[in-house]
Amino acid sequence: RSGFCSPSCTFYSKRVPFPLPSNHALDITTFISSYPHHGKTAFIDAATGRHLSFSQLWQSVDSVSTCLSELGIRKGNVVIIIAPNSIFLPIVCLSVMSLGAIITTSNPLNTSREFAVQMADSKSVLVFTTTQVVLKLAGSPLPIVLLDEQVATEKTGQVKIVTTISEMLKKETKDKIRVKDRVYQDDAATLLYSSGTTGASKGVISSHRNLMALTQSFSHLSNPEEGEQTHICAVPMFHIYGFGAFAIGKLTQGSKVVILSKFDMKEMLSAVEKYRVTCLPLVPPILLVMVKEADEIRKKYDLSSLQSIVCGGAPLSKDLINRFREKFPSIDIRQGYAMTESTGFGASMQTPEECLKYGSVGLLSPNLEAKIVDPTTGMALEVNQKGELWLRGPSIMKGYLNNAEATAATLDSQGWLKTGDLCYIDDDGYVYVVDRLKELIKYKGYQVPPAELEALLLSHPQISDAAVIPFPDEEVGQYPMAYAVRKSGSNISDTALMDFVAKQVAPYKRIRKVAFVTSIPKNPSGKILRRELIKLAISKI
Ligand code: AMP
Repeated sequence: RSGFCSPSCTFYSKRVPFPLPSNHALDITTFISSYPHHGKTAFIDAATGRHLSFSQLWQSVDSVSTCLSELGIRKGNVVIIIAPNSIFLPIVCLSVMSLGAIITTSNPLNTSREFAVQMADSKSVLVFTTTQVVLKLAGSPLPIVLLDEQVATEKTGQVKIVTTISEMLKKETKDKIRVKDRVYQDDAATLLYSSGTTGASKGVISSHRNLMALTQSFSHLSNPEEGEQTHICAVPMFHIYGFGAFAIGKLTQGSKVVILSKFDMKEMLSAVEKYRVTCLPLVPPILLVMVKEADEIRKKYDLSSLQSIVCGGAPLSKDLINRFREKFPSIDIRQGYAMTESTGFGASMQTPEECLKYGSVGLLSPNLEAKIVDPTTGMALEVNQKGELWLRGPSIMKGYLNNAEATAATLDSQGWLKTGDLCYIDDDGYVYVVDRLKELIKYKGYQVPPAELEALLLSHPQISDAAVIPFPDEEVGQYPMAYAVRKSGSNISDTALMDFVAKQVAPYKRIRKVAFVTSIPKNPSGKILRRELIKLAISKI
């Protein structure tokens, strides 16, 4: 089946479906290792030029999982990774999941408070992090493995460092007995955090099977006519984009991934030139910078190897695509749409012809079904009609950790995931994202949950009520703006309130604009009328 089926108003992916493995006792690491790609390079560290071949990767996974097993890591244990991208992250992730243990990740820019909240919520038992971050973990009782090759010991006081990745990689695995529980496809593999349609950040439980659906699609969709691919990973591996597609995803395809520790325009473009990169994954704000600096970029860097830019994580306007194509006519822009809750699956563009559907995010991923549902009546709609996008298929999460209420509100009894995005699907099966119905704010592609900032604002002794909304901005996509009600007698300033929040959150979550009001508009059940506030904010631009 493919296309639109009218009695049920269901859209079926037009991509050729693929079967998932039938063996229930199978973990994602064993599954990926069944694509051996002997003799090829899997990862390159852009800064040092260090190559990791597929054979070295699997040998390293063997060593690290043996060490983890000796540290007592077992099926169901949660291991938290707080680190910038590195060649070690794929090794650690595959090792943890091979034991049936679960990965959770956190942005290294987060604050000590944010780490503590996530560690407690996920019940993490072990931390992988770097010397840079470890100071923010002072006082944490959890054992820590350092991910640096060189460990600056004077910087690492007040924490319990048990070993380093370098030591783990030296581990001889011959004759070692590793305690390995039986892992099933349906067991939890990752716990990435997302606020979903409402409320604070929640642990999204994705299973080994969810990850198989994602990773297998990369080999299934690869186009031999495009030749061997080299990708850059400058998008963060702590987010589903970097984790799903690059830490593990491309391994089934056998293509190379050049890893940058974080986004830096000069380093990224130098790496494109040096490693003859063919595919560059980005988020829209970076594409905008490339357009603005196009003349200089073309003068300085040889980008002739680049076939495509993959752009996802946030809306990309048609106007920006046109401006980009004028400056870089030989580079296709392949949009992709996905969510943490759909384990990185959703819609994408795969060929130059598909890229011509400017403004769309591509065709539904293989094996996915979709519905477009009227948010007020709950009726499933037809082709070209706008409504909330619902998705169903083998990549949809199992649910939110310890949050039956949020799970029930997001996943219906028939397995449909309510995305919170206003979309339509055209006659050819292309998906268009029109607006975001959910509260979520996306700053440079990073999630900012308004509920978290509202709770902080309400904890201020001079504030009686508050609402946080997305404020549109060309450079960053959206930034958080607060409407706040002062308590009587207070004359707290906007900067004082912004500083109060800034001290407690990662830089990307900072409130960058405040308006004081006498009351926050709410519906009779007390829900903030965010749309009204967004309209009010935009009317004042
Ligand atoms: P995350 O779980 O952080 O990946 O956020 C998922 C959300 O990001 C989606 O539900 C959308 O609101 C937004 N998003 C992701 N990709 C796109 C895209 N290509 N166009 C518009 N919005 C997007």
